[in-house]
Amino acid sequence: MDDRLFRTAMSKFATGVTVITTELAGEVHGMTANAFMSVSLDPKLILISIGNQAKMKGHIDQTGVFAVNVLSHEQEHLSKQFAGQIKDDRAATFSTFAGLPVISDALASVACDVYDTTVQGDHTLYIGKVRDIIVTDGDPLMFYSGKYGMISYGESVPRS
Ligand code: FAD
Repeated sequence: MDDRLFRTAMSKFATGVTVITTELAGEVHGMTANAFMSVSLDPKLILISIGNQAKMKGHIDQTGVFAVNVLSHEQEHLSKQFAGQIKDDRAATFSTFAGLPVISDALASVACDVYDTTVQGDHTLYIGKVRDIIVTDGDPLMFYSGKYGMISYGESVPRS
């Protein structure tokens, strides 16, 4: 099967956008990710999937902790920044929450300890056990068919 067909099919699943953060030797690292899902309520577990080539994989393997920051529609520049698509002088402001760096003004920040990992093909699945959560109000940044958009009055409106 053609890689492009697989990618196109997966892009038809509309998602929000997150930035995964962790801190290693006093330096904060971030990576844009939309492969994020809730796994379990008891215990509270979530899952992220990280490419085996991504630097973030090595960072999380060393720290054993990470936070998932759900971006608002006003944070599209952060998605591009942490995907390495732009250099942005408005780089994220981080705050500390539950002992982890989190992105200020994210819709939700979920601080986790690594609970389990499994390498599957060219990605590694990280199950995170939730330490603590912060939530704020706002509209989400959306990603669909390779483009950003926002939910407005119940509709998804492509923006770029
Ligand atoms: P780097 O390439 O080192 O970091 C990424 C970028 O973040 C660099 O430009 C770096 O300068 C910047 N950065 C890092 N830390 C900081 C900081 N403290 N301050 C300012 N800038 C900083 N990949 C996956 O593996 N899984 C996914 O689920 C996934 N979903 C994605 C969803 C979307 C919408 C997009 C656009 C990309 C997604 N990617 C995903 C791809 C992934 O974001 C990129 O491959 C990313 O560049 C990999 O980062 P890295 O860990 O190798 O680190």
